[in-house]
Amino acid sequence: MRSSLATSRHGGRLPLEEYRDGVLAGDRVVLARAITLIESDLASDAELGIQLLDAILPSIGKTRRLGITGVPGVGKSTFIDALGTHLTRDRGERLAVLSIDPSSPISRGSILGDKTRMERLAVNELAFIRPSPSGGHLGGIGRRTRETILLCEAAGYRNIFIETVGVGQSETAVHAVSDFFLLLMLAGAGDQLQGIKRGIIEMVDGMAINKADGHNKTPAERARAEYASALRLFPPSPDGWAPRVLCCSSLECTGIAEIWQMVLDHEAQLEVSGKLAQRRMRGELQWMHDLISNGLRDTFRSHPAIAELMPQLEQEVRVGRSTPLAASRRLLDVFQPDRQTTRT
Ligand code: GDP
Repeated sequence: MRSSLATSRHGGRLPLEEYRDGVLAGDRVVLARAITLIESDLASDAELGIQLLDAILPSIGKTRRLGITGVPGVGKSTFIDALGTHLTRDRGERLAVLSIDPSSPISRGSILGDKTRMERLAVNELAFIRPSPSGGHLGGIGRRTRETILLCEAAGYRNIFIETVGVGQSETAVHAVSDFFLLLMLAGAGDQLQGIKRGIIEMVDGMAINKADGHNKTPAERARAEYASALRLFPPSPDGWAPRVLCCSSLECTGIAEIWQMVLDHEAQLEVSGKLAQRRMRGELQWMHDLISNGLRDTFRSHPAIAELMPQLEQEVRVGRSTPLAASRRLLDVFQPDRQTTRT
């Protein structure tokens, strides 16, 4: 039995205990393979993945999840390299960076996945960098990002950075998986250009105006003051935390320690009030509901009658022969018997 497990198409799948022991021992190679297992679409891998998550879950201690977003070019990778270096080199902490790549439904050919984006971290023993293919599923975070976070945490990476490109839809999902949600901004680039919508500003726990160096220092400070007063106009967050705006230069590594201090202050405040645990719990529930929605959608799409009828109805909607409402009703009616089965 075990030998058949160990020889799969994925370059050798390991037995459950080897994944578990390797991950818990912080073995980077096994961790990387465990993530690959979790990301696999094979039903047998999925089953083993669930068992692995169950096995490691009790060993996960206190961890910290920082969501980082901002438009391409704002300096996310440079910032993460700087903050991650501060964390690992100056503070001796371990860090996993998961980069969610919206362009890459599969892990190859990504725009974010390249490790050389974070030069110092990439060669740092205390850091683990992993691109997380988005798969176009959960509004901006990877299909298996949340499970990957757990694996990294079990492997002893107490700090997890989840990086996404600010493309409008990713923020809600990143917010849901993070304890602290940080938005990177540029001075003078204009809100619209940076994809900043009101809803995003309401979600952030902190903002960092990056590239506050050279002659960009004064505009950055001005932008900081403007955003800080704009944030004060919003109603206080239910967490009781007042979001802060800081300036930094990722290139010169200034303001980086202060940003980390902000994350720690937030953690201290929300831990005392019990809001941090509540926030995590909300995230867990959303995760469960997302998984249910995905499961239902996959079941729906793979239903033989639906798969057959879908292209025809899509065409009818395209040429105006059917409305989206009528077409969706017909498809759901075809699916109905299954729904009734699952109800009983
Ligand atoms: P990303 O697309 O958001 O990951 O941005 P990158 O980290 O790749 O940075 C985009 C460009 O901005 C690169 O040329 C960086 O060298 C530059 N950059 C990043 N941070 C800073 C900074 O703090 N100051 C200055 N002057 N340039 C920066």
